[in-house]
Amino acid sequence: MNKEYCEKVRISIMAISDGERPLLSELQINEHIKSCEDCHLEIEQQKYASQLLNGQKRRTYDVDIWSGIKPVIEQSAIRPKRSLQLWLFAALGLILFANKIIEVLPAFTPGVIFKLMSLTIVFVFFILLGQNPFAINQNLILKGDLK
Ligand SMILES: [Zn+2]
Repeated sequence: MNKEYCEKVRISIMAISDGERPLLSELQINEHIKSCEDCHLEIEQQKYASQLLNGQKRRTYDVDIWSGIKPVIEQSAIRPKRSLQLWLFAALGLILFANKIIEVLPAFTPGVIFKLMSLTIVFVFFILLGQNPFAINQNLILKGDLK
């Protein structure tokens, strides 16, 4: 048998195993395998390899990751978008900067109320964003905590 026909036989066998239409009939394939030692060996090796692959299973993990991920996703869906937050923080920075410039103007003597204004602005800003700058992340797990 020539190598070209051997190749056709092997392609046909792969097509049959993939559920596709083969180039040669099953009768032609079986006759060739009986007479060709190379193809017979090749097919045995393929069978062995696919048995090895079929014996493999995905490792299952006992750790429940979802319970840690789900609250973070839900929390991030509630919060305003990052880009909006970035613009709001930039605006806050500009307001505080303008406040400071007015405060140091020589013609202006700031009273206690004006000095407390920047603190009030920051306080209201964080309340409107629904954020606590002093919040401790409860989901944070450090290496030493896993023991
Ligand atoms: Zn062959």
